[in-house]
Order: sequence, then C-alpha cells, then structure tokens
Amino acid sequence: MKTKVTGYNYGECEICDTPLQERYIKQDFWIHEELIVVEGVPAGVCPRCGEKIVKTTVGQWIIKTLENSERIAKAPRISVPTIIFDAEEAKV
Ligand SMILES: [Zn+2]
Repeated sequence: MKTKVTGYNYGECEICDTPLQERYIKQDFWIHEELIVVEGVPAGVCPRCGEKIVKTTVGQWIIKTLENSERIAKAPRISVPTIIFDAEEAKV
C-alpha cells in the first residue's frame, strides 16, 4: 500500500483495519493552559474512523518543539472563539 506524500507506509488502522492514508494535519496541544497548534504534520489518517497516527520521528520532533519556549514565544498567534458554558441556558 503506497501513500502519496512521503510514500511512508502507515499500515492499517488499529481500530477498523482500513488502510491509512497520508495527510498533512493540524494537531492541538494544551501546554501550561496555552493552546498550541502544530500545522502541516504528516500523519496516517483512517478514512473510515478518523484515527490518526504519526511516525515516531514526527512525534519526537513535536515533543522537542513543544518544549522550546523560545520557539513558541516567536510563533505567530491566531485567535480562536472562546465560549463559556452557560448552565442556565443548558438547564443544568
Ligand atoms: Zn479506522
């Protein structure tokens, strides 16, 4: 099973046995109460159930990069919608 982007074979989905397809994805991480988004991450994505896996080297790069506070400080910012849960509206 060949994939398109790097040609890396991600194998089959552990959950539903569908061959994984390589995609560039966004991943989000919460680090010290701050949301950090990593874009353009090559990953094997299951077209059926949405399961995602990354290569060990990709995962290691992400972990190392998320520990680099200087790099995070220099990264461009995006703003995201923030909604506070409303107990009255939800009739909790
Ligand atoms: Zn799957």
